Amino acid sequence: IKERYHWQTHNVKQSGVDDMVLLAKISEDAIVENLKKRFMDDYIFTYIGPVLISVNPFKQLPYFTDREIDLYQGAVMSSHPHPPLDLALGWTGPLQEGRKLPSLCSGESGAGKTVAAKYIMGYVSKVSGGGPKVQHVKDIILKSNPLLEAFGNAKTVRNNNSSRFGKYFEIQFSRGGEPDGGKISNFLLEKSRVVNQNPGERSFHIYYQLLEGASPEQQENLGITSPDYYYYLNQSAAYKVDDMNDRQEFQETLAAMDVVGVSGEEQTLVLQLVAGILHLGNISFRESGNYAVVESEDFLAFPAYLLGIDQDRLREKLTSRKMDSKWGGRSEVIDVTLNVEQASFTRDALAKALYARLFDYLVDAVNKAMQKDHEEYNIGVLDIYGFEIFQKNGFEQFCINFVNEKLQQIFIELTLKAEQEEYVQEGIRWSPIDYFNNKVVCDLIENKVNPPGVMSILDDVCATMHAKGEGADQTLLQKLQMVIGTHPHFNSWNKGFVVHHYAGKPTNDINSNLFPENLNAEKKGRPTTASSKIKKQANNLVDTLMKCTPHYIRCIKPNETKRPRDWEESRVKHQVEYLGLRENIRVRRAGYAYRRVFQKFLHRYAILTPETWPAWRGDERRGVVHLLNSVNMDPDQYQLGRSKVFIKAPESLFLLEEMRERRY
Ligand code: ADP
Ligand code: MG
Repeated sequence: IKERYHWQTHNVKQSGVDDMVLLAKISEDAIVENLKKRFMDDYIFTYIGPVLISVNPFKQLPYFTDREIDLYQGAVMSSHPHPPLDLALGWTGPLQEGRKLPSLCSGESGAGKTVAAKYIMGYVSKVSGGGPKVQHVKDIILKSNPLLEAFGNAKTVRNNNSSRFGKYFEIQFSRGGEPDGGKISNFLLEKSRVVNQNPGERSFHIYYQLLEGASPEQQENLGITSPDYYYYLNQSAAYKVDDMNDRQEFQETLAAMDVVGVSGEEQTLVLQLVAGILHLGNISFRESGNYAVVESEDFLAFPAYLLGIDQDRLREKLTSRKMDSKWGGRSEVIDVTLNVEQASFTRDALAKALYARLFDYLVDAVNKAMQKDHEEYNIGVLDIYGFEIFQKNGFEQFCINFVNEKLQQIFIELTLKAEQEEYVQEGIRWSPIDYFNNKVVCDLIENKVNPPGVMSILDDVCATMHAKGEGADQTLLQKLQMVIGTHPHFNSWNKGFVVHHYAGKPTNDINSNLFPENLNAEKKGRPTTASSKIKKQANNLVDTLMKCTPHYIRCIKPNETKRPRDWEESRVKHQVEYLGLRENIRVRRAGYAYRRVFQKFLHRYAILTPETWPAWRGDERRGVVHLLNSVNMDPDQYQLGRSKVFIKAPESLFLLEEMRERRY
């Protein structure tokens, strides 16, 4: 306790405050100033109560070295916590109460979410013991990272190793606290990257790994040549990444597949599929009559072979589609030929769908390898890509931003609203504060009826349109304008629309893939559209998280240059604003760091007085008062609500913990 306290006061002088609840003045400028001071002194972690703020240092700091972890390990049972690790695992230790303990990493692209998530997982696997079964699960937990990163990460302009999918990784523990199982849920893989990339960006790493690392035999079998040969890679003309060794990482990817139990034979099929998609992209079309025909049959044979599809069927699939036709009361299925634009669209849709299934297959493989019958305890880590605004924003950005809006909503609900509501419910004295409730933005997107939101309207338009290029874009826009009309968080004009998210205002351009690719779904009845699936995924995630007490890791990106010690004030300020840090501090200040129902509190600290040991008989509330009085707790430090005791500063709690340990 003392050490922690000294560390804090020491920091006040030297490097700002480590918990911003202690700031003299709460303003965005003061927050930015404090973060800057600390950043310049290599303190990248700062708290707001239990919320961890992490500023990307863009250089290796000794926070999570083996030595640090060992030191921390020794200290867990005492009262000298290692701040970031302590936070990563929760104030009171993950398994103490047998609850789920998710950590949510949020922040924009390149802010450090994935690195933070990896630290947590690495830490958990390092500090826990266990026999061969547990070792095996740990191996999978660690190896799943390079595997899923090979297939799900890519170089973007903002981050050389940007995760292009979201994941929720749960580690399950035995009663003894050993990780003996796990489960990954993946969200929103950015499939469009398979078929094209913005200038300066690459497709998923696996492509470059394969091209660099393939053995002569693989080169021969898979038709491997230089990357500029492939349409799906040469549009952006970016092939290399600084500090990244594609050849070496290819070997790691293969090794990771071994660990998660993908057999040699299956690995061959995986690579065949990866190469098959590349060759699929080289099929081009020309106009003949009004129809698309495959430009050169030579380019058809190889992908057909790699993908295991009959060549004629592939041709047919790419240049025509089946359609229900009603004629004189009868309904029949007819073949409709496609034009060049539609054929290219179909080819790309096929490539994307194949890649997405491949990705799901790999996630399944990892899950099977660490499956467990029933879970007792778990820690979850959510790492999902942040809010995005590009020059052109399409359906994928729309979905990502929606999910981020939902996550922000949970943050608000759990941290701010729940906090206030609990005080009111418990009859604790405090003054309410205003905050922006972003439910209005979520409703604008996901409402089913009264009035329907953007996603419902999109679904409706999808159901009535058959293919891209039949005026679907304009129809959508008109419908949006008609149904939504004027809304404080929505604007539109003749070429697109804008949703005003809490974090910014991305313009969704109607000419940039606003529609999910299953627009021309062939299924009977109403198709399950991409947006309804995402809506469901997002809401499932929210439900899971709402049932637990998530820990927040708010990641901040200090600059665009990716250089250490470079601080762009206005960029940081923007992030501080949209992460809602000021609001967060205000609530926290008014609030209490710790709360427990009387009975649990009495149970935990019973040993501190003879009257409560081994059990207090009688009124629980009076028991708590007796206990706090007898340890001379400062009356300013706590309040008693209807059913719970609230303690203000974490230090007061540490004091109780220390006394408790001395007695045992
Ligand atoms: P995000 O997942 O938020 O998009 P990443 O976690 O991939 O961002 O981080 C981007 C890059 O920033 C990493 O590849 C690494 O170079 C650097 N980085 C992030 N966090 C740290 C950290 N804690 N220490 C050192 N470098 C970091
Ligand atoms: Mg990431």
